[in-house]
Amino acid sequence: MSYPLDKRGLKMRQCLYCKANISEESVIDFCERCGKGVWGEKMFNTIIEKMESSREKGDI
Ligand SMILES: [Zn+2]
Repeated sequence: MSYPLDKRGLKMRQCLYCKANISEESVIDFCERCGKGVWGEKMFNTIIEKMESSREKGDI
């Protein structure tokens, strides 16, 4: 999957749902607001923690 580049040469990423810009650092492809809307705040936080811990281990 590729992303358009912004003027600094950084990859632009957008929320899958609302197209808001999201951080390149983000481990997810959607914004916090949409994530919480889809999963609820508690589940969303759990998903983020799992994604971040698996990224640190190099699983992604
Ligand atoms: Zn969104």
